[in-house]
Amino acid sequence: MINQTVRGTKDLLFDEWYRFKYVQQTASEISSLYGFLPVETPIFEYTEVFTKTLGDSSDIINKEMYTFNDKGGKSITLRPEFTAAVVRLLVEKKLQTPIKLFSTGPAFRYERPQKGRQRQFHQINFEAFGVEDPKADIELITLAQHLLTEFGIDKNVRLEINSLGDGETIGKYREALISYFKKFQNDLSEDSQNRLIKNPLRILDSKDKTDKEIISGAPKISDYYTKKSLSFFEQILNGLTILDIPYTVNDKLVRGLDYYCHTVFEFVTEDLGSQGAVFAGGRYDNLVSSVGGKHTPAIGFAGGIERVMELTNYLVKEERAVCLIPIGKEAEEHALTLANELRRNGLYVIYEYSGTLKTRMRKANQADAKVALIFGDEELSSKTLKIKDMDLGEEKTIARNNIIKSIHQVYGQNRKSRFW
Ligand code: ATP
Ligand code: MG
Repeated sequence: MINQTVRGTKDLLFDEWYRFKYVQQTASEISSLYGFLPVETPIFEYTEVFTKTLGDSSDIINKEMYTFNDKGGKSITLRPEFTAAVVRLLVEKKLQTPIKLFSTGPAFRYERPQKGRQRQFHQINFEAFGVEDPKADIELITLAQHLLTEFGIDKNVRLEINSLGDGETIGKYREALISYFKKFQNDLSEDSQNRLIKNPLRILDSKDKTDKEIISGAPKISDYYTKKSLSFFEQILNGLTILDIPYTVNDKLVRGLDYYCHTVFEFVTEDLGSQGAVFAGGRYDNLVSSVGGKHTPAIGFAGGIERVMELTNYLVKEERAVCLIPIGKEAEEHALTLANELRRNGLYVIYEYSGTLKTRMRKANQADAKVALIFGDEELSSKTLKIKDMDLGEEKTIARNNIIKSIHQVYGQNRKSRFW
């Protein structure tokens, strides 16, 4: 029997499909206000696109990637995130910077499925390349906040931000963490013991209870900021205050990937259980050059469409139909032409191929049609139709050649697009 989707994947039906497209469409429209250009990369890449960028200590690289050899023996990976693929695009196509790129689509990670966590999920993704200025960070966070407001979820989601500083800061902080955590090496969870060698910053991410106690006494990154790092971070926090964007500085926030520096941030909620992050991102000034591009400071973030959909109350505003009610053989034949004409004029038409006047009227009511068009032999010969406003129950006779205008009069200002 073929009666199951793959674990962690979902079909999208009807209202949910509209809701999904609404999130994508809104994100794309708002991104364009900030000068983003849309791009779409393939959903799979050569595996090294990800292995050379995300870092050996990341969960994605270690356990979450869908990787396989294709029939030509090439190692292929379904994209687990967008940044690496967009960086590949930037370098390969030699795009001029500064440039801002928006993309959206599916991403794949082998994780334990739960609410807000799927194996095929979808992201909206924003990357700004070629700008060193902290204003770029502020602008990107503003865009994220703008989206939340547009989705009506800005009250349930709050911004957590941190700075990892520059190379010098991260280097010194890493050493300090290693010497601190080494003292507790045997008490740390297995994951954290592994991270101690590969990427000690990631230990700060740990959800393990004993780890957390140890972490509470760990050195603070703020004690390791260089003057430049501190000033960069302060300019961003200042900008957020001026723009009235509330934030909390969370000095344990390091994000899962190796490529971040300076700004890292998450927009988090308490409404999705343990899947708290709705948007997440940060600055990655050295990634492009590390994969063979020229030095290109950059900052980006990604949002989970499913998580936004869980939080938003967006209701599909479905347009109400024009229902055709032909009476008799001639009228029945004319109905096809009429339906065609109305649809070509952008109207949503319900036309059942058969049925009595009574069953057709019932159907029009059930479908919550706004307009019924009733016509039989008499109307055909006088080139007229009866038009009924289904809300008011009012019926009148109109000229056949005036039909589009008459229908619009019944809809008045209330007509919505079929889409949203
Ligand atoms: P988490 O901590 O929840 O695993 P993450 O740090 O791995 O998130 P990112 O790689 O930053 O997530 O991805 C950006 C956003 O994509 C997340 O904030 C979340 O909204 C969404 N996301 C990530 N993984 C999944 C998933 N498996 N299913 C649904 N949405 C996801
Ligand atoms: Mg994850």
